[in-house]
Amino acid sequence: MTTIVKAINVRKSFGAHQVLRGVDFEVENGEVLCILGPSGGGKSTLLRCINHLEDLNDGVIWVDGEIIGYELKGSTLHELPPRLLRMQQREIGMVFQHFNLFPHMTALENVIEGPVTVRKEPKAQAEARGRELLTSVGLADHCGAYPVQLSGGQKQRVAIARSLAMKPKIMLFDEPTSALDPELVGEVLDVMRALAATGTTMIVVTHEIAFARDVADRVAIMVDGEIREMGPPAEVLANPKDARVRSFLSRVL
Ligand code: ADP
Ligand code: MG
Repeated sequence: MTTIVKAINVRKSFGAHQVLRGVDFEVENGEVLCILGPSGGGKSTLLRCINHLEDLNDGVIWVDGEIIGYELKGSTLHELPPRLLRMQQREIGMVFQHFNLFPHMTALENVIEGPVTVRKEPKAQAEARGRELLTSVGLADHCGAYPVQLSGGQKQRVAIARSLAMKPKIMLFDEPTSALDPELVGEVLDVMRALAATGTTMIVVTHEIAFARDVADRVAIMVDGEIREMGPPAEVLANPKDARVRSFLSRVL
């Protein structure tokens, strides 16, 4: 097993409010880590720190051997210049609760936008791969559809295909099904389940306990800016040791 993500003592405050209070974890290549926990516990902030949408106040996050947002010069850390930071960020796919598709572009155009404009792939090649990706998320027949013509579940599946088009080393999901009507949740979880089966490294913040139980290799429970429990789902969900975790789980299980 090789470690692909390693977070050490990650701290983040907004003003006087300490949102992440020293978070440590590792994710192995190909592993699925689900992060659960009460709202306001810092889950989204942690994901945003992993791809450096937020600066850390302390600690470091490594992804595939690189410190995100920084470079080592001698023995000191220096902030990466924006161009190099953007290169790192491209290697980390992120799917949000709200799909953030470009409304004036078709599904296929949304998917090939990154590969063509950022990775400078030839358009025909990007389109061929874009169609493959849309097929893999069950949307072969919707390549030409605009977001407004798609359901929430379909939009989220386009968003997943769009992230994958950048060939990320890891995929981050922040409550990807929380904004969906209940009958559309399953189709998105099915796509994520299939993605996990291909060996994609995934960190998934979710309230879908059944998904975490079935698909996650490990779950982490975050409360008040700390990971209180982490381990195989069967263990953590059945026998939580921490009182706050027990009370959270008793409300959601
Ligand atoms: P979760 O995703 O677990 O619900 P968040 O990471 O979104 O938690 O938020 C954790 C805490 O940090 C909350 O109290 C939230 O209000 C606060 N917070 C998040 N982002 C910001 C921000 N940009 N500015 C100030 N406070 C923030
Ligand atoms: Mg959140």
